[in-house]
Amino acid sequence: MKKIIIIFVLVILLITGCSPKGKPNEIVGEKPIVYVSFYPLYFLVDEIGEDNIDLKMIIPNGVDSHDYEPSMKQLKAIEEADIFIYNGAGFENWTEKLVGTIIDEDKTLRASDYVKLIEINGTFDPHIWLNPENMNRVGEKIRDRLISLDKDNRDEYKRNFNELSNRLKALDNEFIDGLKDKEKDTILVSHSAFAYMAERYNFQQVSVAGISPEQEPSPRTIANIIEMVEKENYEYIFLETLANPKTVDIIAEETNLKTLLLNPLEGLTEEEQNNGEDYISIMEKNLINLKKALVE
Ligand SMILES: [Zn+2]
Repeated sequence: MKKIIIIFVLVILLITGCSPKGKPNEIVGEKPIVYVSFYPLYFLVDEIGEDNIDLKMIIPNGVDSHDYEPSMKQLKAIEEADIFIYNGAGFENWTEKLVGTIIDEDKTLRASDYVKLIEINGTFDPHIWLNPENMNRVGEKIRDRLISLDKDNRDEYKRNFNELSNRLKALDNEFIDGLKDKEKDTILVSHSAFAYMAERYNFQQVSVAGISPEQEPSPRTIANIIEMVEKENYEYIFLETLANPKTVDIIAEETNLKTLLLNPLEGLTEEEQNNGEDYISIMEKNLINLKKALVE
């Protein structure tokens, strides 16, 4: 796939001479075409833009977002969009070669530029969306960009953002309240997606896999975790919806831990979509399960 992307970049550069630069123009008479890479950004843009924009998502729901590679058709569509919004901080590796070459950097918004990044073992942790405060900050930038593309609907973008911002702040307060009487301070998770949530609400994560669910743990890591669980008083280990639960199952079985779901929101499952779940409703479910592991 990497080779295909490089060839694609070369072909586009040959055809266009060099991608045309310039500030994104205001669009008159048509809806702005907005592409986002994955679900949490889709949620923000959808809430703020509603019917005033034409919104598309690159990484389909139901797949592991970390390792997704877009198709040629999708790359072409991003190139033609009015704005492309992505997470950055290493989450979408494929953007690294494309932004600044075939995708005009002026037409992009990189969410991770607007929050304080956490570093884990020398690598930036991309999972910024699991802190509602970060979502609020990124939402504010999205609002401003939509206004600059489409001034006619300025008041609606502002109003929608204010409503969204209130919901995100209420969610943040639910977490602060719900976790203030913690009796434990560490959770066991399958991949280390929860550092931003843990920092905000003052707990620790111990993860079986690395920053990407594909980084399989060594037998030694598994043995260490099993030993740690036996020494300390853990009751639960968290599973995810989209990642392979094999290793977590092994540990749970070895140690008699109960499993609970903690959703890193890297994409919705078909079932979640059909049930009308969104970022807020899933985070509320996450809180219920976190309370089981940390408070009750
Ligand atoms: Zn992840």
